[in-house]
Amino acid sequence: MDPDIDPRIGPGIDPGLIGDCVHCGFCLPSCPTYVLWGEEMDSPRGRIHLMGQHVAGTPVTGEMAGHFDACLGCMACVTACPSGVRYDRLIEQTRAVVEREHVRPPADRAVRELVFRLFPYPRRLRAMRLPLRLGTGLRRRIAPALERVSPSLAALADLAPEPVRHRRLPRRVRAVGRRRATVGLLTGCVQGEFFPQVNAATARVLAMEGCEVVIPPAQGCCGALSLHSGRPGQAARFARRTIAAFERAGVDTVVVNAAGCGSTMKDYTGILDGGWADRAAAIRVADLAEYLVELGPVATRHPLPLTAAYHDACHLAHAQGIRSQPRELLAAVPGLELREIAESAICCGSAGTYNILQPEAARELGDRKAERVLATGADLLVSANPGCTMQITAAIRRAGATPIPVAHTAQVLDASLRALREIG
Ligand code: SF4
Ligand code: SF4
Repeated sequence: MDPDIDPRIGPGIDPGLIGDCVHCGFCLPSCPTYVLWGEEMDSPRGRIHLMGQHVAGTPVTGEMAGHFDACLGCMACVTACPSGVRYDRLIEQTRAVVEREHVRPPADRAVRELVFRLFPYPRRLRAMRLPLRLGTGLRRRIAPALERVSPSLAALADLAPEPVRHRRLPRRVRAVGRRRATVGLLTGCVQGEFFPQVNAATARVLAMEGCEVVIPPAQGCCGALSLHSGRPGQAARFARRTIAAFERAGVDTVVVNAAGCGSTMKDYTGILDGGWADRAAAIRVADLAEYLVELGPVATRHPLPLTAAYHDACHLAHAQGIRSQPRELLAAVPGLELREIAESAICCGSAGTYNILQPEAARELGDRKAERVLATGADLLVSANPGCTMQITAAIRRAGATPIPVAHTAQVLDASLRALREIG
């Protein structure tokens, strides 16, 4: 048994959680795959029905696995469900069962191996920056040839952002003025390697708001990608290492600026057993926007005359219930006009590794999101998740429209607090 796939919660899918669904269908219009295809088995209710069939003894077939694989894990159905069905738990358990019991075709297995041996390891991701220097133009030109070999590899080439100069963050950033708190900063894998400017902006904003920021160098992956992909053994291993790193840091709160990582860290007690679950419970985790609103502003906001559309990342809005805080922070920047994106609750198709493993559905959702973002006419798109940033940037490029810069909430605040003319 692969220790990364070893089941963590009992023998499989919890029948009690399946029984909570009363088949009302209120969740259907919120589900991106149901919106795209109108198929019952690609809706939350249909997938829960399939889970029930498996619990009753039906083995996982290729067709059944396909419906589960097509789920984005976006949690829009959890928000929409009036009966409080824990679809998040159900799909995590189901994915672990699928990984354990279903033998995928060799090409699918190879792509998954590549993804799970690459993404949760910052050093390996760092090595990827060299081929990325090939330049966007060349990568896009070889994309059609890659598409014929593997749509997943073509998606990878299309999504990868332009490499930016990587500056190592210090282990500690001193608070500006009176110290109000000591916080840890999760640097993340994709965020840390492809968007180091977001982590640098996050640390500066926290410091300017009076926080001492501790950035443990040995933190690694938080386990989000593994947990959302049916690899609970690997997720638990990464969770334990992350907890130990922040315990040593001696911080009040760990601040997270990537939606998927934040929702996973807030759920560590559900991933771990015994002493580790207790240690996880002792660490407070907060999303950056959530934390800054709670803390209250002390630093002066300088004007940023621009229009900005805010994108709700699913693991922030649906999984953590954080919708008002980023909007509140952005609206408080003088001169900034905030615009809403139509269908904001529908996923952009990024969903962790979904846009690599399910490239066609992800592309459809990305194109739909890009259309709605462009319709806002905003100068800037604000996104608080690196996966969404890459996905929507690629979709806007495919639309052939004038590219809209995409920035994290932290970068907008950093520019305002430092009175910059441009968002860096
Ligand atoms: S998951 Fe919730 S909203 Fe969807 S069918 Fe079941 S009970 Fe109804
Ligand atoms: S998690 Fe998202 S994609 Fe999956 S069933 Fe729920 S709404 Fe649909």
